This record gives sequence, structure tokens and C-alpha cells, in this order.
Amino acid sequence: MRLPKFQIDSTRLWYNLLIVTLFVLLYIFPKPDGAIFSAARIIIALGVVFALFYNNGITKKISPSIASLDDNSTDSFNGNHGVGQSRYNYDKLLENIFDILQAMNSDFSSAVYMIDPMSNGYTLQKATDDLFYDFVGMENDLFKILLSSPDSMLFQQKEMGDSWSNILTLNEWLGSECILGTRIIFRNSTVGALLIYSDHFNKFKERDRDIISSLGVFVSEGIENLERTEELVSDRENHARITDMLNRLNIENSRNDIFEAVRTLCRSLFFYDKLTISMRSTYHDTAKIVLVDGFTEDITEKAEFKISNSLHGRPVRTGKPIRTAYWDKDYDDTGRFIAGDGEQFNFMSVVGVPIGNGTATQGALVLERLSSRSYSESEQWLLESLAQTIYAVMEWSDKYQIVYQHATHDGLTELLNHKSFLERFEEEISRSLRFQQDLVLLMMDLDKFKRINDNHGHLYGDYVLYTVALVLKSCIRNIDVIARYGGEEFAILLINTDKRKAQAVADRIVKSIAGHKFNKDNVDARMTISVGLAQFPEDADRIKDMIARADAAMYRVKGKGGNGVLMHNPSEI
Ligand code: GH3
Ligand code: MG
Ligand code: MG
Repeated sequence: MRLPKFQIDSTRLWYNLLIVTLFVLLYIFPKPDGAIFSAARIIIALGVVFALFYNNGITKKISPSIASLDDNSTDSFNGNHGVGQSRYNYDKLLENIFDILQAMNSDFSSAVYMIDPMSNGYTLQKATDDLFYDFVGMENDLFKILLSSPDSMLFQQKEMGDSWSNILTLNEWLGSECILGTRIIFRNSTVGALLIYSDHFNKFKERDRDIISSLGVFVSEGIENLERTEELVSDRENHARITDMLNRLNIENSRNDIFEAVRTLCRSLFFYDKLTISMRSTYHDTAKIVLVDGFTEDITEKAEFKISNSLHGRPVRTGKPIRTAYWDKDYDDTGRFIAGDGEQFNFMSVVGVPIGNGTATQGALVLERLSSRSYSESEQWLLESLAQTIYAVMEWSDKYQIVYQHATHDGLTELLNHKSFLERFEEEISRSLRFQQDLVLLMMDLDKFKRINDNHGHLYGDYVLYTVALVLKSCIRNIDVIARYGGEEFAILLINTDKRKAQAVADRIVKSIAGHKFNKDNVDARMTISVGLAQFPEDADRIKDMIARADAAMYRVKGKGGNGVLMHNPSEI
């Protein structure tokens, strides 16, 4: 039976997109335990899959290569993974997104709606619970506002009650209910929205809004990047190899992992005597070799070479590919890497492509042979696709680092934020149980800090907080965990340390803060800090109790006028 046209296209797209998405996702996301990373990963995947699956008009535009495949090829292309497998993966993606959003706050309910042009409204794709209606009409005001807003939006029930009763199945309203939403965009068109519901607006922190906004932008950019990466994967002949490699890839990401994956892929796709990936150094006319495969006698990883006048620098400086069977005849560079090295080593045939986006070139991917057997145009094309993919993946990865840093660290002091600290605390407790090591928690609060703000202004107060963070960091080891616990409160976990050793560290902290001359814009200030200690598992075996006990000890210091250290006192409980 012949399927309607729309379905056939979608099936092909499904498979392609899932592969492309996986390719990108597996590279980008390093830590499966980073909640924000995972959330972002899933949001992108979601945006991509939805944008392309549900808006056939758009899919045709961006996927001419896939849309033009004939019916037979669809079957072979899909191989063992039919629509069933794709649907399964797709459903799992949706489940994950909500798991993770709920991990941000278990009180949140989340839903994704996509514009459905056929039924003139928004269709619910998936939700964490049955709070959301399956369909919302196009005229809904909340959706109208959200979908036209570039940032994430916070809506309160008391402000636009009418729209709410068409989205949520609740019968009674308190007025404090609220929805944080962000739109999903593809090619300047809004294709859907992610909604997060909470029964009280207090539960949304400013941070949540920022993160959701950044992710919204990221989704859109991610989808655009996809267009560039698509060609590589839709090459039928190499499809099986690429999926194979994807399956083997681990989610341990770093630039090195990306490069290593490229090495594996190149080995199965090309013949070469030397593969070289080099990346432009930040400030100089130089590039650094980040990966070499094959011949290494001439030059190897970590070496730097000049971009000007070198064959390997050519794609970097011109942004254009090179391809020839006799490089020394066709190019006027004085050497492959350094002047004169062409005579020393007998490399002849070369294909090299820039790693970049057309305007900014970051590096080059070059294959060389010790013979004059030339590389074909299609090999050059495949290498270009690969280089574009590398570039897109690295760009995404860098952006993610920023979102991740933003989500887990405090913007002023750059220390871990409250929530991330608690996550780390849990990890450290398990580690400490596993290795039978002690762990000491220090809770700290600046004394009479409000006066600083009152006397010198908030900016000065910010400067003091930033500087205190530096002083605290200088008192501990790299393995210890430090966080801004609240406004002028800090927390430190001393790893594999008992109270006696911790007392010495805490004394040093108190002394260093009291001894520090704060000075900004010729205004001097002094500061003192109060510290309370509790030891795991001796004083308490749960995080909550550890914090309560260290806090109580800290308040005893405050009671005595501050500027000191006290340990948890068991008689206090
Ligand atoms: P105590 O000795 O009892 O701890 O007194 P305190 O003044 O340090 O404590 P209190 O809790 O009364 O005041 C804390 C102040 O910290 C109030 C708040 O305005 C200020 N604060 C919190 N976060 C920031 C911040 O990010 N920047 C600045 N400048 N001030 C902050
Ligand atoms: Mg204080
Ligand atoms: Mg305080």
C-alpha cells in the first residue's frame, strides 16, 4: 500500500533527523548527571524533531536531498531501524525532557505544544501530567503573547484568567498559579512552545527564567546548525559507518573526544598517510595541531606552526579547501608546516578543508598521501561536510559551557550556587561513605555586612562579596567545594578532613578575612566572618542536619560578637 506523500517524507526525515540529532547530542553533552545539560539536550532534540516533523512546509525547504529520495531507497535507508524504533527513541526523548525539568523543581509540571496548521491551534505533544488540554485554539491570548515574545515569559493566572482555563484542566484557581514559557523557533518562524506550570509564582527564580530563555535561543540556533550537518549523514553509502560510530561514542565529551571520533570516522571513510586537524591559536598567526593520525615523524600533536606561508595554514587563512595531487606544484606555500619541510618528506596528494562557518575559520582538517593518487571531488565534499559538522558541534559545545556555567554558578562571585552546592554535597556524602572518609562542612556568614551596603552602597557591597570569595578560595585546596550559599553566606566542604584539621582551615579563613584591607575607589573597609563546623558522619548523617548543625554553631559565634569559629556542640540538639 502506498502511504500518503506526507507520511513518506516524514518517515525519511525522522530517521535522518534522529541520527543527526544523536550525532550532535552525543558529542556535545559530557555529563549525563548535569541536569541543565540534559535539559538543554532534550529541548534541542525536541525542537528539532518537532520543527521538522510537524511542519512539512519547513522540512521540504531544508531537506531537499531527503525529500527527493525515491520510495525504494527509503526502505534500504531505514535498514533495521524502522519507524517503530524512531518513535520509541522520540518518545523517550520527550519523557526525558520532563524528568529533567522536574528535577529542576519537582513541583513543576511541563508541556510542549506545537503549532498545528491543519487544526488551527496548538497540539499538546507531551506533558508531565494530565493538567494540560490536548488542544488549544489559535486565538488563545497567552499563546499569542508568548509566541511573539523573544524572551521567556512569566504569566500569572490572575492576569489573564480566560486563556488559562483553555490550557489547564483545573476547576478552581487561587490566582497565584503561574506559567513560565518559551517559544521554539525555526528559521525565524515560531513552531511551538515549552510551558512550565507552577501553583505559585514564588517558585520560579529569576535564574529559571534566564536559563529557559538561553535554552530557547539555543534551540533555534541548534536547528539552523542542523542544516549544515545534514548532508553528511544523508550520504547513503556512508550512513552505516556513521551510525556505527555514533553507537560506539561515549557521552564523555570534550574537544578531544570530538576529534577522536573524527579520527575513527576518517579511518573508515578515506585513505591517507597522514590526517591532521589543526586549530587557530587565539592571538597569533599560528595554529596548533590537535590531532594527528598516521605518519608522525614530521610533526605531531601540540606542535604549533605559522598559518601564513604553510600548506596546512592555507585553508585556515583563506577559508577555502585545497585539493591537488602535487601540492608543491599547485600551491606556492614554502612548506607543509614550516618552510622547507616539503623536501624532507615526500607528501604529494592532499585534500584539506577549513573548519569554520564561512566567515570565521577556526582550523583545518587535512588528509595527505605519500603518493600522487588524487583525492576525488566527492571525497573533498565529504571532508567539507565533516569539517562543518565539527565546527557546529564545537560551537554548540562552547555555548553549552556558558549556559551550564550560568546555571550552576553564582554570577557575582563565580562560586557554585546554592542548588549546585547541594547536589555536590550529596555526591560528596556518597563518596565519603564509599571511601570511609570524613567530610567537614563550614557554614559562614559575614558580620554586619548590611552596614557596608548602607555606608558605601551596593556596588561596594558587591565588590566586598567578590573579594571575600577570592580570599576564601585562597584558604582551601582545589578538591574542596565552595559555594555562595546565600546573600552574604558561604559554604565550604572540606574533603577527607576531620574536625581538627578543619578547625585550622577555619581559623585561617577568619584571620584572612579580618586581616584583609578592602579598598575600592579609595574607600577602605574591614570585614569579619563567623564560621560554624559540623563533621560527617560524626555530627549528622543527613545533609539537612549537617547544615542545621553547622549553622547553629555559626550563630553561636554571632552571639559572641562574630569573628570566630565554633564546632557543632552535641548538647545543643
Ligand atoms: P549579621 O552580622 O547578623 O550577619 O548581620 P548582617 O548585616 O551581615 O546580616 P543581614 O542578614 O541583616 O544582612 C545581610 C545583607 O546582605 C542584607 C542584604 O542587602 C545584603 N546582601 C545580600 N546579597 C547581596 C548582594 O548580592 N550584594 C550586596 N551588595 N548586598 C547583598
Ligand atoms: Mg551577615
Ligand atoms: Mg546572613
